[in-house]
Amino acid sequence: MVDHITRRQFLKVSGAALGGAAAVELIGLGLDTRAVQAQAQTVPLKRGKEVPSICPYCAVGCAQIVTVDTTSNKIIDIQGNPDSPINRGTLCPKGAATYQLTINPLRETKVKHRAPGSDHWEDMSLDDAMNRIAQLVKQTRDQTFVVEKNGKKVYHTKAIASLGGATLDNEENYLMKKYLSGLGVVYIENQARI
Ligand code: SF4
Repeated sequence: MVDHITRRQFLKVSGAALGGAAAVELIGLGLDTRAVQAQAQTVPLKRGKEVPSICPYCAVGCAQIVTVDTTSNKIIDIQGNPDSPINRGTLCPKGAATYQLTINPLRETKVKHRAPGSDHWEDMSLDDAMNRIAQLVKQTRDQTFVVEKNGKKVYHTKAIASLGGATLDNEENYLMKKYLSGLGVVYIENQARI
């Protein structure tokens, strides 16, 4: 049981990437990771063609190594790239789960639509979904657009908000901001900053 770990102690342990010295340090703090490390060493390394990549999630931009089976041409593993000065081989829990993007059968790959009043979701084509979103944005914007408030020109709508996903890059965010500001949307945010 650990009563108190200072920030300095935590950084020292984390920075050592759980190597032997760090294990001793952790034991000193009351955390014995030897069983976890022993178990980790029994997991066979996955061999294949290693392709450098970047984590798709947030703006930190951690480097990854994507291992591909050259027979099936399928991704079989994704790990942190130790050559990167940004993440030095580590990935946060979200980045470490990137492999799930490619293999998890529970991942939704089709647009789902629940019609007004309906109690269930149905598949919708991407074209239909884009048209539906465009129509609703236009309708909402036209119904709620405010030109003037308290004697000042504001030209905005507060009825629409935009939350960008973590995989949006700088250029996409730039275009979204331009587009949304052009519509008069003022609530514009991105997951990577929240
Ligand atoms: S989500 Fe995690 S692993 Fe991916 S770039 Fe951000 S901090 Fe790095």
